[in-house]
Amino acid sequence: AGSGKFFVGGNWKCNGTKESISKLVSDLNSAKLEPDVDVVVAPPFVYVDLVKNSLTDRIEISAQNSWIGKGGAFTGEIRLKPTFSFLARDFIKHFCLYVSLTISHNVEQLTDIGCKWVILGHSERRHVIGEDDQFIGKKAAYALSQGLGVIACIDAVPSWDNVVIAYEPVWAIGTGKVATPQQAQEVHVAVRDWLKKNVSAEVASKTRIIYGGSVNGGNCAELAKQEDIDGFLVGGASLKGPEFATIVNSVT
Ligand code: PEP
Repeated sequence: AGSGKFFVGGNWKCNGTKESISKLVSDLNSAKLEPDVDVVVAPPFVYVDLVKNSLTDRIEISAQNSWIGKGGAFTGEIRLKPTFSFLARDFIKHFCLYVSLTISHNVEQLTDIGCKWVILGHSERRHVIGEDDQFIGKKAAYALSQGLGVIACIDAVPSWDNVVIAYEPVWAIGTGKVATPQQAQEVHVAVRDWLKKNVSAEVASKTRIIYGGSVNGGNCAELAKQEDIDGFLVGGASLKGPEFATIVNSVT
């Protein structure tokens, strides 16, 4: 693992029923989790409230998507109002970003239902749903319009503390084909170098870069040993409480 606090996110995607999610929550509540790890789960929107009301506060909640602007006549969308957010256009093409939200005095839907995070730019949103760079860029623009800089003014970002970058090779997502620890390490180093050149050495060293793509209880330990792997984004294996706990506890 790298020098930042280990981060493990579970993306439940469009899975679960009240019954299976209650079981998952109860497994997570009774799991023993290493204390020095940030743990976040992203339930389907319809179950966020159920999860928020039953899951231990030890685990934070993420949204799986957000709208490009203020609320209104946008059937099926979810609005947010971040007071801090960031989306780098170069990253939009390659990475899924987790953007942390802080509670705003104008409570909007995501914060109202207890989400502290939102996933933006996941490859499933691009390839299956059809979101393109332009649309994701609009989401970014809305987030940026809340008082923050754009990629060209990246050094105007006031704080990178709550930004986590997930590197997820598309061929590894949900396929059972995991990147080798060396492959992942190589890309994570490249991302860190990008940050160093385009932002600052300090941000490069403290921003957490996590790996996603067929991580499971069997392969997490070797991946976690890599110097630049600061955690994981987990899909399928996050639906099994004990296995997800093994992944959280793989921090080295
Ligand atoms: C993901 O969708 O972000 C993911 C990493 O999925 P899986 O772990 O199932 O490959």
